[in-house]
Amino acid sequence: MSAPQIRRLSAQTVNRIAAGEVIERPAAAVKELVENALDAGARRIEVILAGGGITRIEVIDDGAGIAAAELTLAIERHATSKLADEALVRINTLGFRGEALPSIGAAAKLTLISRPAAQDGAYKITVAGGAVGEVTPAAGAAGTRAIVEDLFYATPARRKFLRTPRAEADAAERAVWRLALSAPEVAFRLVSEERVLFDLPRQDEAARVAALFGRETAAAMLPLAGARDGVELSGLAGPASVSRATTALQSFVVNGRPVLDPLLRMALRLAYRDVVPAGRHPVAALRLMVPPEALDVNVHPAKTELRFADGNGVRSLVMGALAQLLARPVSLAGAPMARPGLNLRPPPAPAPSPAARGFAEAELALLTPPAARQITPPALVPAPHPLGAPVAQILDTYVLAVAADGALVIIDQHAAHERLTEERLRGEFEAGRVASQALLVPVVVDLPPIEAMRLLAAAPLLARLGLEIEAFGPGAVLVRALPAALKDPDAAGLLRDLAEEFAESGTPVALEAKLDAALARLACHRSIRAGRRLAADEMNALLRQMEATPRAATCSHGRPTFLKLSRAELERLFGR
Ligand code: ADP
Ligand code: MG
Repeated sequence: MSAPQIRRLSAQTVNRIAAGEVIERPAAAVKELVENALDAGARRIEVILAGGGITRIEVIDDGAGIAAAELTLAIERHATSKLADEALVRINTLGFRGEALPSIGAAAKLTLISRPAAQDGAYKITVAGGAVGEVTPAAGAAGTRAIVEDLFYATPARRKFLRTPRAEADAAERAVWRLALSAPEVAFRLVSEERVLFDLPRQDEAARVAALFGRETAAAMLPLAGARDGVELSGLAGPASVSRATTALQSFVVNGRPVLDPLLRMALRLAYRDVVPAGRHPVAALRLMVPPEALDVNVHPAKTELRFADGNGVRSLVMGALAQLLARPVSLAGAPMARPGLNLRPPPAPAPSPAARGFAEAELALLTPPAARQITPPALVPAPHPLGAPVAQILDTYVLAVAADGALVIIDQHAAHERLTEERLRGEFEAGRVASQALLVPVVVDLPPIEAMRLLAAAPLLARLGLEIEAFGPGAVLVRALPAALKDPDAAGLLRDLAEEFAESGTPVALEAKLDAALARLACHRSIRAGRRLAADEMNALLRQMEATPRAATCSHGRPTFLKLSRAELERLFGR
Protein backbone atom coordinates (compact mmCIF):
# COMPACT_ATOMS: atom_id res chain seq x y z
CA MET A 1 0.00 0.00 0.00
CA SER A 2 1.43 3.40 -0.92
CA ALA A 3 1.86 5.97 1.85
CA PRO A 4 -0.73 8.76 1.77
CA GLN A 5 0.56 12.02 0.40
CA ILE A 6 1.03 14.90 2.83
CA ARG A 7 -0.25 18.24 1.59
CA ARG A 8 -0.73 21.70 3.02
CA LEU A 9 -4.30 22.66 3.84
CA SER A 10 -5.64 25.61 1.86
CA ALA A 11 -5.94 28.91 3.70
CA GLN A 12 -9.69 28.58 3.41
CA THR A 13 -9.71 25.18 5.13
CA VAL A 14 -7.39 26.42 7.87
CA ASN A 15 -9.70 29.36 8.51
CA ARG A 16 -12.73 27.11 8.63
CA ILE A 17 -11.04 24.91 11.20
CA ALA A 18 -10.09 27.97 13.25
CA ALA A 19 -13.62 29.30 12.91
CA GLY A 20 -14.80 26.20 14.74
CA GLU A 21 -12.57 27.08 17.69
CA VAL A 22 -12.80 30.84 17.85
CA ILE A 23 -16.39 31.28 16.69
CA GLU A 24 -18.33 28.50 18.34
CA ARG A 25 -21.62 30.31 18.16
CA PRO A 26 -23.01 33.79 17.41
CA ALA A 27 -22.17 34.97 20.93
CA ALA A 28 -18.50 34.34 20.21
CA ALA A 29 -18.58 36.41 17.01
CA VAL A 30 -20.33 39.22 18.86
CA LYS A 31 -17.72 39.07 21.60
CA GLU A 32 -14.81 39.22 19.14
CA LEU A 33 -16.29 42.17 17.25
CA VAL A 34 -17.04 44.15 20.40
CA GLU A 35 -13.55 43.40 21.72
CA ASN A 36 -12.12 44.79 18.49
CA ALA A 37 -14.18 47.94 18.97
CA LEU A 38 -12.93 48.30 22.55
CA ASP A 39 -9.34 47.71 21.43
CA ALA A 40 -9.84 50.46 18.85
CA GLY A 41 -10.55 52.90 21.69
CA ALA A 42 -14.26 53.32 20.94
CA ARG A 43 -16.23 55.59 23.25
CA ARG A 44 -19.52 54.33 21.92
CA ILE A 45 -20.45 50.84 20.70
CA GLU A 46 -23.73 49.67 19.26
CA VAL A 47 -24.63 46.02 18.73
CA ILE A 48 -27.61 44.98 16.63
CA LEU A 49 -28.66 41.33 16.51
CA ALA A 50 -31.22 39.61 14.32
CA GLY A 51 -32.23 35.96 14.33
CA GLY A 52 -30.15 35.29 17.42
CA GLY A 53 -27.08 36.61 15.60
CA ILE A 54 -27.32 33.74 13.12
CA THR A 55 -29.07 35.93 10.55
CA ARG A 56 -27.18 39.12 11.25
CA ILE A 57 -24.78 40.75 13.69
CA GLU A 58 -23.82 44.39 13.37
CA VAL A 59 -21.27 46.12 15.58
CA ILE A 60 -20.73 49.84 15.10
CA ASP A 61 -17.99 51.76 16.88
CA ASP A 62 -16.46 55.23 16.83
CA GLY A 63 -12.93 53.96 17.38
CA ALA A 64 -9.68 54.41 15.49
CA GLY A 65 -10.89 52.74 12.29
CA ILE A 66 -8.87 50.73 9.74
CA ALA A 67 -7.05 52.53 6.94
CA ALA A 68 -8.23 51.62 3.43
CA ALA A 69 -4.79 50.22 2.66
CA GLU A 70 -5.02 47.81 5.61
CA LEU A 71 -8.54 46.47 5.17
CA THR A 72 -7.31 43.42 3.27
CA LEU A 73 -4.69 42.70 5.88
CA ALA A 74 -7.24 43.01 8.73
CA ILE A 75 -9.11 39.95 7.48
CA GLU A 76 -5.99 37.93 6.82
CA ARG A 77 -5.07 35.17 9.22
CA HIS A 78 -2.60 35.99 12.02
CA ALA A 79 -2.54 39.64 11.01
CA THR A 80 -2.87 41.97 13.98
CA SER A 81 -1.98 45.53 14.90
CA LYS A 82 -1.91 44.63 18.57
CA LEU A 83 0.69 42.14 19.65
CA ALA A 84 3.62 44.38 20.50
CA ASP A 85 5.12 41.78 22.82
CA GLU A 86 5.61 38.59 20.88
CA ALA A 87 6.62 36.79 24.07
CA LEU A 88 2.87 36.90 24.90
CA VAL A 89 3.37 38.39 28.36
CA ARG A 90 2.36 42.05 28.27
CA ILE A 91 -1.00 41.79 26.59
CA ASN A 92 -2.89 45.03 27.03
CA THR A 93 -5.53 44.48 24.39
CA LEU A 94 -8.48 42.14 24.31
CA GLY A 95 -7.43 40.69 20.95
CA PHE A 96 -3.93 39.64 19.95
CA ARG A 97 -4.21 36.45 17.96
CA GLY A 98 -5.33 37.98 14.66
CA GLU A 99 -7.82 35.19 14.19
CA ALA A 100 -11.28 36.59 14.71
CA LEU A 101 -11.96 38.39 11.46
CA PRO A 102 -10.58 35.68 9.14
CA SER A 103 -12.50 33.05 11.11
CA ILE A 104 -15.77 34.95 10.85
CA GLY A 105 -15.08 35.62 7.17
CA ALA A 106 -14.54 31.90 6.60
CA ALA A 107 -17.81 30.87 8.22
CA ALA A 108 -20.09 33.71 7.18
CA LYS A 109 -20.37 36.79 5.04
CA LEU A 110 -18.39 39.55 6.74
CA THR A 111 -18.43 43.17 5.67
CA LEU A 112 -16.16 45.81 7.20
CA ILE A 113 -16.84 49.47 6.54
CA SER A 114 -14.25 51.65 8.19
CA ARG A 115 -12.82 55.12 8.26
CA PRO A 116 -10.01 56.46 10.44
CA ALA A 117 -11.02 60.01 11.42
CA ALA A 118 -8.20 61.50 9.29
CA GLN A 119 -9.10 59.57 6.13
CA ASP A 120 -11.32 61.02 3.43
CA GLY A 121 -14.37 58.81 3.28
CA ALA A 122 -14.92 55.23 4.37
CA TYR A 123 -13.88 52.05 2.57
CA LYS A 124 -15.48 48.67 2.51
CA ILE A 125 -14.38 45.08 2.11
CA THR A 126 -16.41 41.89 2.05
CA VAL A 127 -15.29 38.32 2.64
CA ALA A 128 -17.82 35.54 2.17
CA GLY A 129 -17.03 31.92 2.95
CA GLY A 130 -13.35 32.79 2.73
CA ALA A 131 -13.58 34.52 -0.66
CA VAL A 132 -12.13 38.01 -0.29
CA GLY A 133 -13.63 40.86 -2.34
CA GLU A 134 -12.24 44.20 -3.50
CA VAL A 135 -11.76 47.25 -1.31
CA THR A 136 -14.26 49.86 -2.50
CA PRO A 137 -15.29 53.34 -1.34
CA ALA A 138 -18.41 53.45 0.79
CA ALA A 139 -20.43 55.79 2.95
CA GLY A 140 -19.57 55.67 6.63
CA ALA A 141 -18.77 57.72 9.72
CA ALA A 142 -15.40 57.73 11.49
CA GLY A 143 -14.96 54.36 13.15
CA THR A 144 -15.82 50.85 12.05
CA ARG A 145 -18.97 49.01 11.19
CA ALA A 146 -18.73 45.22 11.05
CA ILE A 147 -21.63 43.27 9.60
CA VAL A 148 -21.87 39.49 9.80
CA GLU A 149 -24.57 37.79 7.77
CA ASP A 150 -25.64 34.13 7.64
CA LEU A 151 -23.23 32.86 10.23
CA PHE A 152 -22.01 29.32 9.53
CA TYR A 153 -23.64 29.14 6.09
CA ALA A 154 -20.19 28.12 4.81
CA THR A 155 -19.60 25.63 7.62
CA PRO A 156 -22.78 23.53 7.77
CA ALA A 157 -21.20 21.14 10.30
CA ARG A 158 -21.10 23.94 12.83
CA ARG A 159 -24.49 25.25 11.85
CA LYS A 160 -26.05 21.94 12.89
CA PHE A 161 -24.97 22.50 16.46
CA LEU A 162 -26.65 25.84 16.85
CA ARG A 163 -29.57 26.03 19.20
CA THR A 164 -32.77 27.95 18.62
CA PRO A 165 -32.40 31.59 17.59
CA ARG A 166 -33.85 32.55 20.98
CA ALA A 167 -31.19 30.57 22.86
CA GLU A 168 -28.44 31.96 20.64
CA ALA A 169 -29.77 35.49 21.12
CA ASP A 170 -29.72 34.90 24.84
CA ALA A 171 -26.08 33.86 24.82
CA ALA A 172 -25.13 36.78 22.55
CA GLU A 173 -27.00 39.26 24.73
CA ARG A 174 -25.22 37.89 27.78
CA ALA A 175 -21.87 38.35 26.05
CA VAL A 176 -22.63 42.02 25.38
CA TRP A 177 -23.94 42.39 28.94
CA ARG A 178 -20.59 41.14 30.27
CA LEU A 179 -18.57 43.37 27.95
CA ALA A 180 -20.67 46.41 28.89
CA LEU A 181 -19.95 45.67 32.56
CA SER A 182 -16.25 45.42 31.81
CA ALA A 183 -16.10 48.88 30.21
CA PRO A 184 -18.46 51.33 31.95
CA GLU A 185 -16.52 54.25 30.42
CA VAL A 186 -17.82 53.23 26.99
CA ALA A 187 -21.40 53.98 25.96
CA PHE A 188 -23.18 50.76 24.97
CA ARG A 189 -26.37 50.18 23.09
CA LEU A 190 -27.77 46.70 22.47
CA VAL A 191 -30.64 45.99 20.12
CA SER A 192 -31.86 42.43 19.71
CA GLU A 193 -34.77 41.36 17.52
CA GLU A 194 -35.66 45.04 17.09
CA ARG A 195 -35.89 45.71 20.81
CA VAL A 196 -33.55 48.05 22.63
CA LEU A 197 -32.24 46.01 25.56
CA PHE A 198 -30.04 48.73 26.90
CA ASP A 199 -28.78 52.12 25.86
CA LEU A 200 -26.20 53.23 28.38
CA PRO A 201 -24.17 56.44 28.46
CA ARG A 202 -20.53 56.55 29.50
CA GLN A 203 -20.80 56.17 33.25
CA ASP A 204 -18.99 55.06 36.39
CA GLU A 205 -18.83 51.46 37.49
CA ALA A 206 -21.58 51.68 40.12
CA ALA A 207 -24.00 53.27 37.68
CA ARG A 208 -23.19 50.62 35.06
CA VAL A 209 -23.78 47.81 37.56
CA ALA A 210 -27.07 49.43 38.59
CA ALA A 211 -28.16 49.63 34.96
CA LEU A 212 -27.25 46.04 34.15
CA PHE A 213 -28.11 44.25 37.40
CA GLY A 214 -31.32 46.20 37.96
CA ARG A 215 -31.47 49.19 40.29
CA GLU A 216 -33.07 47.35 43.18
CA THR A 217 -30.53 44.53 43.27
CA ALA A 218 -27.65 46.95 42.83
CA ALA A 219 -28.92 49.13 45.68
CA ALA A 220 -28.50 46.21 48.06
CA MET A 221 -24.98 45.36 46.86
CA LEU A 222 -21.96 46.38 48.90
CA PRO A 223 -18.56 47.59 47.76
CA LEU A 224 -15.53 45.43 48.42
CA ALA A 225 -11.81 45.80 47.90
CA GLY A 226 -8.60 43.97 48.70
CA ALA A 227 -5.05 43.40 47.51
CA ARG A 228 -2.50 40.66 47.76
CA ASP A 229 0.88 40.13 46.10
CA GLY A 230 0.25 42.82 43.51
CA VAL A 231 -3.22 41.53 42.65
CA GLU A 232 -5.99 44.06 43.25
CA LEU A 233 -9.65 43.24 43.76
CA SER A 234 -12.57 45.65 43.66
CA GLY A 235 -16.26 45.51 42.93
CA LEU A 236 -19.69 45.02 44.39
CA ALA A 237 -21.36 41.95 45.85
CA GLY A 238 -24.72 41.22 47.39
CA PRO A 239 -25.33 40.56 51.07
CA ALA A 240 -26.49 37.08 52.03
CA SER A 241 -30.12 38.22 51.86
CA VAL A 242 -29.88 38.77 48.10
CA SER A 243 -29.73 35.61 46.05
CA ARG A 244 -30.89 34.53 42.64
CA ALA A 245 -32.11 31.31 41.07
CA THR A 246 -29.13 31.18 38.68
CA THR A 247 -25.60 32.52 38.38
CA ALA A 248 -26.71 35.00 35.70
CA LEU A 249 -25.94 38.05 37.83
CA GLN A 250 -22.27 37.25 38.38
CA SER A 251 -19.59 39.09 36.45
CA PHE A 252 -15.82 38.77 36.60
CA VAL A 253 -13.47 41.15 34.84
CA VAL A 254 -9.75 40.44 34.89
CA ASN A 255 -7.43 43.14 33.53
CA GLY A 256 -10.38 44.65 31.73
CA ARG A 257 -11.37 41.35 30.11
CA PRO A 258 -14.73 39.73 30.97
CA VAL A 259 -14.08 36.11 31.86
CA LEU A 260 -16.04 33.00 32.84
CA ASP A 261 -13.19 31.62 34.85
CA PRO A 262 -13.89 28.45 36.89
CA LEU A 263 -11.50 29.41 39.68
CA LEU A 264 -13.22 32.76 40.26
CA ARG A 265 -16.70 31.29 40.02
CA MET A 266 -15.80 28.63 42.56
CA ALA A 267 -14.29 31.19 44.94
CA LEU A 268 -17.53 33.17 44.85
CA ARG A 269 -19.60 30.07 45.41
CA LEU A 270 -17.51 28.92 48.34
CA ALA A 271 -17.61 32.34 49.99
CA TYR A 272 -21.43 32.23 50.09
CA ARG A 273 -21.79 28.52 50.63
CA ASP A 274 -23.04 28.73 54.18
CA VAL A 275 -25.15 31.85 53.89
CA VAL A 276 -27.11 31.42 50.66
CA PRO A 277 -29.75 28.66 50.61
CA ALA A 278 -29.02 25.55 48.57
CA GLY A 279 -29.88 26.08 44.91
CA ARG A 280 -29.61 29.87 45.17
CA HIS A 281 -26.69 31.96 43.94
CA PRO A 282 -25.06 35.20 45.07
CA VAL A 283 -24.87 38.31 42.90
CA ALA A 284 -21.50 39.97 42.32
CA ALA A 285 -19.60 42.22 39.93
CA LEU A 286 -15.92 41.65 40.63
CA ARG A 287 -12.90 43.19 38.99
CA LEU A 288 -9.30 42.02 39.32
CA MET A 289 -6.10 43.72 38.23
CA VAL A 290 -3.29 41.19 37.93
CA PRO A 291 0.32 41.96 36.92
CA PRO A 292 0.60 40.72 33.31
CA GLU A 293 3.43 38.34 34.15
CA ALA A 294 1.21 36.61 36.72
CA LEU A 295 -1.49 35.84 34.18
CA ASP A 296 -1.83 33.76 31.02
CA VAL A 297 -4.83 34.70 28.91
CA ASN A 298 -3.75 32.50 26.03
CA VAL A 299 -5.26 29.30 27.41
CA HIS A 300 -8.11 29.01 24.97
CA PRO A 301 -8.85 30.64 21.60
CA ALA A 302 -11.95 32.29 23.06
CA LYS A 303 -9.79 33.85 25.84
CA THR A 304 -12.51 33.53 28.49
CA GLU A 305 -10.45 31.31 30.75
CA LEU A 306 -7.26 32.34 32.44
CA ARG A 307 -4.32 30.81 34.13
CA PHE A 308 -3.21 32.62 37.27
CA ALA A 309 0.41 32.04 38.25
CA ASP A 310 -0.79 31.95 41.85
CA GLY A 311 -4.30 30.53 41.75
CA ASN A 312 -4.43 29.90 45.47
CA GLY A 313 -3.47 33.47 46.22
CA VAL A 314 -6.21 34.82 43.95
CA ARG A 315 -8.77 32.46 45.50
CA SER A 316 -7.81 33.55 49.02
CA LEU A 317 -7.99 37.21 48.07
CA VAL A 318 -11.51 36.86 46.63
CA MET A 319 -12.83 34.64 49.41
CA GLY A 320 -11.25 36.81 52.11
CA ALA A 321 -12.76 40.04 50.79
CA LEU A 322 -16.19 38.42 50.45
CA ALA A 323 -15.98 36.94 53.95
CA GLN A 324 -15.33 40.45 55.29
CA LEU A 325 -18.27 41.81 53.34
CA LEU A 326 -20.55 39.08 54.65
CA ALA A 327 -19.42 39.69 58.22
CA ARG A 328 -20.62 43.31 58.14
CA PRO A 329 -23.58 44.02 60.41
CA VAL A 330 -26.89 43.71 58.63
CA SER A 331 -27.75 47.36 59.23
CA LEU A 332 -24.98 48.26 56.82
CA ALA A 333 -26.12 45.70 54.31
CA GLY A 334 -28.64 47.91 52.53
CA ALA A 335 -32.28 47.01 52.22
CA PRO A 336 -32.60 43.26 51.83
CA MET A 337 -34.55 42.36 48.76
CA ALA A 338 -38.19 41.65 49.44
CA ARG A 339 -38.91 38.02 48.63
CA PRO A 340 -42.49 37.12 47.92
CA GLY A 341 -43.72 34.11 49.81
CA LEU A 342 -41.99 35.21 52.98
CA ASN A 343 -44.62 37.67 54.06
CA LEU A 344 -47.63 35.42 54.22
CA ARG A 345 -50.43 37.06 56.05
CA PRO A 346 -52.97 35.61 58.47
CA PRO A 347 -56.47 35.04 57.09
CA PRO A 348 -58.88 37.92 57.64
CA ALA A 349 -61.48 35.96 59.59
CA PRO A 350 -61.37 33.08 62.10
CA ALA A 351 -61.06 29.76 60.30
CA PRO A 352 -64.22 27.71 59.99
CA SER A 353 -64.50 24.36 61.74
CA PRO A 354 -62.17 21.72 60.33
CA ALA A 355 -65.02 19.45 59.33
CA ALA A 356 -66.57 22.18 57.18
CA ARG A 357 -63.36 22.94 55.33
CA GLY A 358 -62.36 22.21 51.81
CA PHE A 359 -58.67 22.07 51.27
CA ALA A 360 -58.46 25.66 50.06
CA GLU A 361 -59.62 26.80 53.46
CA ALA A 362 -57.28 24.46 55.19
CA GLU A 363 -54.55 26.09 53.19
CA LEU A 364 -55.60 29.47 54.43
CA ALA A 365 -55.45 28.13 57.92
CA LEU A 366 -51.86 27.11 57.30
CA LEU A 367 -51.06 30.77 57.15
CA THR A 368 -52.18 31.41 60.70
CA PRO A 369 -49.40 32.60 63.00
CA PRO A 370 -47.86 29.52 64.63
CA ALA A 371 -47.95 30.86 68.18
CA ALA A 372 -51.73 30.95 68.13
CA ARG A 373 -52.04 27.18 67.80
CA GLN A 374 -51.57 24.24 70.07
CA ILE A 375 -50.53 20.85 68.82
CA THR A 376 -52.93 18.18 69.99
CA PRO A 377 -51.68 14.85 68.74
CA PRO A 378 -54.55 12.66 67.58
CA ALA A 379 -54.94 9.21 69.08
CA LEU A 380 -52.41 6.69 67.82
CA VAL A 381 -55.03 4.77 65.93
CA PRO A 382 -53.85 3.83 62.46
CA ALA A 383 -56.05 5.61 59.95
CA PRO A 384 -57.50 3.81 56.91
CA HIS A 385 -55.50 6.03 54.56
CA PRO A 386 -52.30 5.18 52.68
CA LEU A 387 -50.38 7.99 54.34
CA GLY A 388 -52.04 7.34 57.68
CA ALA A 389 -52.88 9.60 60.59
CA PRO A 390 -50.55 12.43 61.57
CA VAL A 391 -48.99 11.94 64.95
CA ALA A 392 -46.64 14.84 65.40
CA GLN A 393 -44.64 17.48 63.67
CA ILE A 394 -40.89 17.61 64.23
CA LEU A 395 -38.49 20.48 63.61
CA ASP A 396 -41.52 22.44 62.38
CA THR A 397 -40.71 20.84 59.05
CA TYR A 398 -41.65 17.16 58.98
CA VAL A 399 -44.96 15.55 59.75
CA LEU A 400 -44.87 12.08 61.28
CA ALA A 401 -47.78 9.79 60.54
CA VAL A 402 -48.71 6.19 61.14
CA ALA A 403 -50.23 4.37 58.17
CA ALA A 404 -52.97 1.78 58.23
CA ASP A 405 -50.45 -1.05 57.89
CA GLY A 406 -48.41 0.32 60.76
CA ALA A 407 -45.74 1.89 58.59
CA LEU A 408 -44.09 5.10 59.79
CA VAL A 409 -44.51 7.94 57.28
CA ILE A 410 -42.36 11.08 57.33
CA ILE A 411 -43.64 13.96 55.19
CA ASP A 412 -41.64 17.00 54.14
CA GLN A 413 -44.36 19.63 54.52
CA HIS A 414 -42.88 22.22 52.16
CA ALA A 415 -42.10 19.77 49.38
CA ALA A 416 -45.54 18.20 49.74
CA HIS A 417 -47.42 21.45 49.70
CA GLU A 418 -45.42 22.72 46.77
CA ARG A 419 -46.52 19.76 44.69
CA LEU A 420 -50.15 20.14 45.74
CA THR A 421 -50.15 23.78 44.79
CA GLU A 422 -48.48 23.09 41.48
CA GLU A 423 -50.96 20.39 40.58
CA ARG A 424 -53.86 22.62 41.52
CA LEU A 425 -52.53 25.48 39.44
CA ARG A 426 -51.93 23.07 36.57
CA GLY A 427 -55.49 21.80 36.86
CA GLU A 428 -56.82 25.35 36.82
CA PHE A 429 -54.59 26.18 33.89
CA GLU A 430 -55.68 23.17 31.89
CA ALA A 431 -59.31 23.96 32.58
CA GLY A 432 -58.59 27.50 31.37
CA ARG A 433 -59.76 29.11 34.56
CA VAL A 434 -56.78 30.43 36.47
CA ALA A 435 -58.18 33.18 38.62
CA SER A 436 -56.37 36.45 38.27
CA GLN A 437 -56.38 39.28 40.76
CA ALA A 438 -55.95 42.76 39.29
CA LEU A 439 -53.74 45.02 41.39
CA LEU A 440 -55.32 48.26 42.57
CA VAL A 441 -52.01 49.97 41.94
CA PRO A 442 -49.93 48.25 39.24
CA VAL A 443 -46.43 47.43 40.48
CA VAL A 444 -43.30 48.38 38.58
CA VAL A 445 -40.54 45.78 38.90
CA ASP A 446 -37.01 46.72 38.13
CA LEU A 447 -35.03 44.01 36.30
CA PRO A 448 -31.87 43.66 34.28
CA PRO A 449 -33.06 44.69 30.80
CA ILE A 450 -32.31 41.31 29.29
CA GLU A 451 -34.45 39.57 31.89
CA ALA A 452 -37.26 42.06 31.46
CA MET A 453 -37.31 41.29 27.77
CA ARG A 454 -37.31 37.57 28.39
CA LEU A 455 -40.29 37.89 30.68
CA LEU A 456 -42.15 40.07 28.22
CA ALA A 457 -41.52 37.51 25.51
CA ALA A 458 -43.40 35.05 27.72
CA ALA A 459 -46.18 37.52 28.59
CA PRO A 460 -48.95 35.70 26.68
CA LEU A 461 -48.16 32.47 28.51
CA LEU A 462 -47.94 34.19 31.87
CA ALA A 463 -51.27 35.90 31.23
CA ARG A 464 -52.86 32.47 30.94
CA LEU A 465 -51.40 31.75 34.38
CA GLY A 466 -53.03 34.87 35.76
CA LEU A 467 -49.87 36.95 35.75
CA GLU A 468 -50.39 40.04 33.62
CA ILE A 469 -47.32 42.08 32.75
CA GLU A 470 -46.38 44.68 30.20
CA ALA A 471 -43.31 46.64 29.13
CA PHE A 472 -42.43 49.71 31.12
CA GLY A 473 -39.32 51.03 29.42
CA PRO A 474 -36.04 49.11 29.26
CA GLY A 475 -35.31 47.32 32.50
CA ALA A 476 -38.77 47.58 34.00
CA VAL A 477 -41.91 45.52 33.85
CA LEU A 478 -45.34 46.66 34.94
CA VAL A 479 -47.40 44.05 36.78
CA ARG A 480 -51.14 44.54 36.34
CA ALA A 481 -52.48 41.32 37.82
CA LEU A 482 -51.23 38.32 39.78
CA PRO A 483 -52.62 34.80 40.00
CA ALA A 484 -55.31 35.00 42.67
CA ALA A 485 -53.91 31.90 44.34
CA LEU A 486 -50.76 33.82 45.10
CA LYS A 487 -52.29 36.15 47.68
CA ASP A 488 -49.10 38.13 47.62
CA PRO A 489 -48.93 41.73 46.53
CA ASP A 490 -45.13 41.82 46.20
CA ALA A 491 -44.27 40.63 42.72
CA ALA A 492 -40.59 41.52 42.40
CA GLY A 493 -38.98 38.32 43.64
CA LEU A 494 -41.43 36.18 41.71
CA LEU A 495 -40.68 37.99 38.45
CA ARG A 496 -36.93 37.75 39.00
CA ASP A 497 -37.11 34.05 39.65
CA LEU A 498 -39.31 33.52 36.62
CA ALA A 499 -36.98 35.48 34.36
CA GLU A 500 -34.10 33.32 35.48
CA GLU A 501 -36.06 30.13 35.09
CA PHE A 502 -36.69 31.14 31.49
CA ALA A 503 -33.05 31.90 30.86
CA GLU A 504 -31.14 28.86 32.09
CA SER A 505 -28.23 29.98 29.99
CA GLY A 506 -28.36 28.88 26.44
CA THR A 507 -30.91 26.08 26.53
CA PRO A 508 -33.82 26.54 24.20
CA VAL A 509 -36.87 26.97 26.35
CA ALA A 510 -39.90 25.41 24.76
CA LEU A 511 -43.31 26.66 25.74
CA GLU A 512 -43.97 23.42 27.57
CA ALA A 513 -40.81 23.77 29.66
CA LYS A 514 -41.63 27.39 30.32
CA LEU A 515 -45.06 26.47 31.57
CA ASP A 516 -43.61 23.84 33.89
CA ALA A 517 -41.04 26.28 35.18
CA ALA A 518 -43.65 28.95 35.75
CA LEU A 519 -46.03 26.58 37.54
CA ALA A 520 -43.26 25.27 39.77
CA ARG A 521 -42.13 28.80 40.53
CA LEU A 522 -45.63 29.98 41.40
CA ALA A 523 -46.18 26.92 43.56
CA CYS A 524 -42.93 27.43 45.40
CA HIS A 525 -43.79 31.05 46.02
CA ARG A 526 -47.01 30.28 47.75
CA SER A 527 -46.34 27.04 49.57
CA ILE A 528 -46.05 26.64 53.30
CA ARG A 529 -42.46 26.79 54.27
CA ALA A 530 -40.47 24.40 56.29
CA GLY A 531 -40.26 25.91 59.75
CA ARG A 532 -43.97 26.62 60.14
CA ARG A 533 -45.80 24.89 62.93
CA LEU A 534 -48.91 23.00 61.86
CA ALA A 535 -51.98 22.09 63.88
CA ALA A 536 -53.29 18.54 63.85
CA ASP A 537 -56.14 19.27 61.45
CA GLU A 538 -53.75 21.06 59.10
CA MET A 539 -51.44 18.06 59.05
CA ASN A 540 -54.39 15.83 58.38
CA ALA A 541 -55.65 18.02 55.54
CA LEU A 542 -52.19 17.99 53.99
CA LEU A 543 -51.96 14.19 54.02
CA ARG A 544 -55.47 13.65 52.68
CA GLN A 545 -54.86 16.10 49.86
CA MET A 546 -51.59 14.36 48.97
CA GLU A 547 -53.44 11.08 48.60
CA ALA A 548 -55.82 12.75 46.16
CA THR A 549 -53.16 14.47 44.06
CA PRO A 550 -51.24 13.02 41.10
CA ARG A 551 -47.44 12.93 41.28
CA ALA A 552 -47.60 13.79 44.98
CA ALA A 553 -44.65 11.54 45.82
CA THR A 554 -42.12 14.07 44.57
CA CYS A 555 -41.95 17.85 44.71
CA SER A 556 -41.57 20.05 41.62
CA HIS A 557 -37.82 19.72 41.94
CA GLY A 558 -37.96 15.94 41.91
CA ARG A 559 -37.21 15.42 45.59
CA PRO A 560 -39.38 12.99 47.54
CA THR A 561 -42.23 14.53 49.52
CA PHE A 562 -42.47 11.66 51.96
CA LEU A 563 -40.61 8.57 53.15
CA LYS A 564 -42.34 5.46 54.33
CA LEU A 565 -40.72 2.98 56.71
CA SER A 566 -42.64 -0.29 56.68
CA ARG A 567 -42.64 -2.75 59.53
CA ALA A 568 -40.10 -4.85 57.62
CA GLU A 569 -37.83 -1.86 57.10
CA LEU A 570 -38.05 -0.84 60.73
CA GLU A 571 -37.21 -4.39 61.77
CA ARG A 572 -34.25 -4.45 59.42
CA LEU A 573 -33.02 -1.13 60.83
CA PHE A 574 -33.16 -2.57 64.34
CA GLY A 575 -31.51 -5.78 63.24
CA ARG A 576 -34.44 -7.88 64.33
P1 ADP B 1 -6.96 40.76 16.73
O1 ADP B 1 -8.06 41.50 17.39
O2 ADP B 1 -6.51 39.58 17.52
O3 ADP B 1 -5.82 41.64 16.32
P2 ADP B 1 -8.85 40.42 14.60
O4 ADP B 1 -8.93 39.42 13.51
O5 ADP B 1 -9.97 40.51 15.54
O6 ADP B 1 -7.50 40.13 15.37
O7 ADP B 1 -8.61 41.84 13.95
C1 ADP B 1 -7.51 42.03 13.07
C2 ADP B 1 -7.09 43.49 13.05
O8 ADP B 1 -8.09 44.28 12.42
C3 ADP B 1 -6.90 44.11 14.41
O9 ADP B 1 -5.61 43.88 14.92
C4 ADP B 1 -7.12 45.59 14.12
O10 ADP B 1 -5.96 46.20 13.64
C5 ADP B 1 -8.14 45.57 13.01
N1 ADP B 1 -9.51 45.80 13.50
C6 ADP B 1 -10.47 44.86 13.64
N2 ADP B 1 -11.62 45.42 14.09
C7 ADP B 1 -11.38 46.73 14.26
C8 ADP B 1 -12.17 47.85 14.71
N3 ADP B 1 -13.44 47.71 15.09
N4 ADP B 1 -11.57 49.06 14.73
C9 ADP B 1 -10.29 49.24 14.34
N5 ADP B 1 -9.51 48.20 13.92
C10 ADP B 1 -10.02 46.97 13.87
MG1 MG C 1 -9.93 40.79 17.65
